Amino acid sequence: MERLIIAGAGCAGFTAAIYAARAELEPVVLSGSTLGGQLSETTSVENYPGFPAGVMGPEVMENFQKQAERFGAKVRYETVTAARLKNGGPQQLTLSNGEKIECRALIVATGARPRWLGLDSEQKLRNRGVSSCATCDGALYRKVPVAVVGGGDSALEEALFLSRFASKVMVIHRRDQLRASKIMQERAFANPKLEMVWDSVVEDVLDVEKEEVTGVRVKNVKSDESRVLECQGLFLAIGHIPNTDPFKGQLKINDEGYIELPDGGRSMSNVEGVFVAGDCADHVYCQAVTAAGMGCRAAIDAERWLQKRE
Ligand code: NAP
Repeated sequence: MERLIIAGAGCAGFTAAIYAARAELEPVVLSGSTLGGQLSETTSVENYPGFPAGVMGPEVMENFQKQAERFGAKVRYETVTAARLKNGGPQQLTLSNGEKIECRALIVATGARPRWLGLDSEQKLRNRGVSSCATCDGALYRKVPVAVVGGGDSALEEALFLSRFASKVMVIHRRDQLRASKIMQERAFANPKLEMVWDSVVEDVLDVEKEEVTGVRVKNVKSDESRVLECQGLFLAIGHIPNTDPFKGQLKINDEGYIELPDGGRSMSNVEGVFVAGDCADHVYCQAVTAAGMGCRAAIDAERWLQKRE
């Protein structure tokens, strides 16, 4: 049996691993499907303290991992598919390879994944012009028009990134005000390639028969009028869904899928010995630095809990 397993290898998981490894808990980190978490799928990170010139997301996450491994954390490239948790442990996890592993203490830091609109055409054209990751796919759209859906920081970040390649970037937002931070709004409005499509929702992605994106049909929610915006790529940036499915029925999880912590000031979940960190429990801040802070907190709480038990 492991002493401590950390499910998730993003900012929260690796920070927990650094602290736990330095406390000689020999943590095992389960990478999940995205080693490095969401930052590994982004470009320049400008608001992580300590990097005045910014740092590339994948680079900083490689460093998180190296730092955790330097102190003895072991990374396993597996995803948790199911969990059987009980007060005080042992906690049992089923992995994607079918293996069952047990631990005394568990830190859940499984993060969140991008949300989709849920349109049939969107799903059929996924990876054929529809994407949720401009960083991954943006360079494929050189000198052609593309569209981004969303009005938050992610949408503007993706739009600004895409403007390096695309001839035009249309940002389709369902309201007439952005949710994004002021600095991102200023950058977006100053970029001549960005065009805001206000008060509009995507009704359909064209053209499923051709198996490629040729445009999107949007409806203006104020006038009820529909029109087609010609584009060759569509990028979704409409928020995230927490990766908590394996823990449903085991941990206290709210209607939106986020894990609830009974004592907001502590990281212990409703199951004694199971600690939680990062975006799987945070729908408010969702920042790399807050996830890292939560990871630190969970490792310290887990260490103290194990110390009392052992
Ligand atoms: P978000 O702030 O929740 O924004 C999601 C956007 O998508 C909102 O504008 C929302 O519209 C829209 N939306 C949601 N569901 C939709 C649907 N079904 N159809 C159409 N539009 C829909 O998510 P986020 O942009 O991913 O950001 C998450 C967190 O990460 C935030 O705290 C953000 O500040 C942070 N973040 C920071 C940076 C940075 O600092 N550089 C970069 C990325 C993310 P409404 O506005 O109408 O609700």
